[in-house]
Amino acid sequence: MKIPFGRPILGEAERAAVLKVMAGPQLVHGPAAKQFEADFGSYTGGHATSVSSCTTGLHLAYVHLGIVPGDEVIVPAQTHVATAHVVAHTGATPVFVDCDPETGNISAARIAKVLTPRTKAISVVHYLGLPVDMAPIMELARSRNLFVVEDAALSLGATYNGVHTGLIGDAGCFSFYPVKHITTSEGGMFVSRHQDIISRIEKLKSFGYDKQVGERTVPGHYDVNLLGYNYRLSEIACAIGVEQMKKLPRFLEQRAQNYAALKAALVDVAELRILASDGDAVRKGSHYCLAIVLADRIASKRREIIGSINGKGVGTSIYYPVPVPLTALYKNDLANVPEAFPNALRISQQSIALPVGPHLNPDDMKTVAQAVKAAILECRS
Ligand SMILES: *Cc1c(COP(=O)(O)O)cnc(C)c1O
Repeated sequence: MKIPFGRPILGEAERAAVLKVMAGPQLVHGPAAKQFEADFGSYTGGHATSVSSCTTGLHLAYVHLGIVPGDEVIVPAQTHVATAHVVAHTGATPVFVDCDPETGNISAARIAKVLTPRTKAISVVHYLGLPVDMAPIMELARSRNLFVVEDAALSLGATYNGVHTGLIGDAGCFSFYPVKHITTSEGGMFVSRHQDIISRIEKLKSFGYDKQVGERTVPGHYDVNLLGYNYRLSEIACAIGVEQMKKLPRFLEQRAQNYAALKAALVDVAELRILASDGDAVRKGSHYCLAIVLADRIASKRREIIGSINGKGVGTSIYYPVPVPLTALYKNDLANVPEAFPNALRISQQSIALPVGPHLNPDDMKTVAQAVKAAILECRS
């Protein structure tokens, strides 16, 4: 692909940082993790602790909460399967909610309809980097004493009323998988406004040791008081993260420019609509990608349209290919029928995610737009 959907931008700075870790004595529990967490905390304005992925971070949020079989957690239908798996791993039941058709985000009104006395938590996904309208959700959560977990995997750089995503609810997690806003190869960050939650997550991600490595008076001596995991992030990954954080403002600026250029080039195409992911004065999006939704009359041609776009050297993706409740795994639950998730289903079946990442510039956006327009013209004939 001349224009891949995503490409990590790693350079000399990351290479030097990795070599420095490799030359030293410490591959885990070291200064790079401390630095990455401090930098991430000050960028977002909260407390942060590194984890091995967004998925493991989200899992720890529910382990911390102590949810058990019989409990229910609200999960958006239109998300990565990880958002639901982490609930299912605890034995609790994910209760899925359809999204709004314009944005792909869930809303307080839709959540309110499926709450039961068994509901313990609400998870939200800032879909494609657009912050969910959190104020009414937080109000609902407070009135019912529910914990709010933000899956912020696609929303690094996104804010709601000036507050960074991940720090509006009780806990939030970011992903550093290669095509996300920054990468550490695999990796994630758990954030919270509450230092006591972070302190507990630090123990849970490290076997449940009562004393962290730096806190031990006798080396190697600890007791264990929590059923923990090993979900830590290595010094090598954290050293890459420190360098990526320095580049983040530039990455976000490039994404915003690319998004605006591509949106302007596609806004008049009658056969598609653009998902509203860029936000407004209250919800500042992080421009993960630009998703087009094909009109119903050409929806059955999506496969050919994608083939044509890719054939012109332009990479695409689909976020996400099947609403989670309708995947083979989750559709066994009687509540998970297509009629319950019409908006998620339409986005899954009719959308195409187009690249706007910092590996591209507004000139590349012209190529992307031309490829899309030509593909749609081809399917008319
Ligand atoms: C990528 C993604 C994840 C998974 O992140 P990992 O770091 O790969 O675990 C979870 N949720 C959403 C919304 C994602 O896009």
